[in-house]
Amino acid sequence: MSRLDSFINRMSAQRDLLNHVRDNLVLPEAGEVFEIGLGNGRTYSHLRENFPGRRVIAFDRKLASHASATPAANDFVEGEIRETGQAYLGRQAALVHADIGTGYDDKDAITLTWLPQMVSGMLANGGVAVSGLPLDHPDLELLPRLPSIAEGRYFHYRRR
Ligand code: SAM
Repeated sequence: MSRLDSFINRMSAQRDLLNHVRDNLVLPEAGEVFEIGLGNGRTYSHLRENFPGRRVIAFDRKLASHASATPAANDFVEGEIRETGQAYLGRQAALVHADIGTGYDDKDAITLTWLPQMVSGMLANGGVAVSGLPLDHPDLELLPRLPSIAEGRYFHYRRR
């Protein structure tokens, strides 16, 4: 598969899953949305549009989003998420979206030493995680893959 095809698949999977959460899953009534890896702000923009009424807080090591998808200063957390995220454990988020995979197995393996625990710790019971990397954690129940998403491409979980 070309890198272009792979990129398009990732974008489609993100949209399909975030729309699926919006349309078909019940989220905790209160609770913020966390965007782990703001990047260009595309999925942040989608979260803002599709989960109105919820505060969306974005994390990244640096602010580099498009001007139209840049969070207010108090909704952006700058720095290494492994460190900055610690202050958001127990925050009872309703939804966490994590898009910090690199496509390099060795780098992603390091991320996976801390990301599942962090996402689980950020979520309220019944909250949902959507992630490009698998989040193997006893408190995160893997939800069935959508037919439109290839095996191993994108994952979603319910916090037990
Ligand atoms: N979903 C975003 C979008 O739609 O524009 C793209 C996210 S991009 C693939 C990943 C982002 O996560 C990058 O901007 C990178 O700087 C950030 N990132 C990755 N690992 C990180 C870490 N450990 N701490 C802080 N930021 C990280």
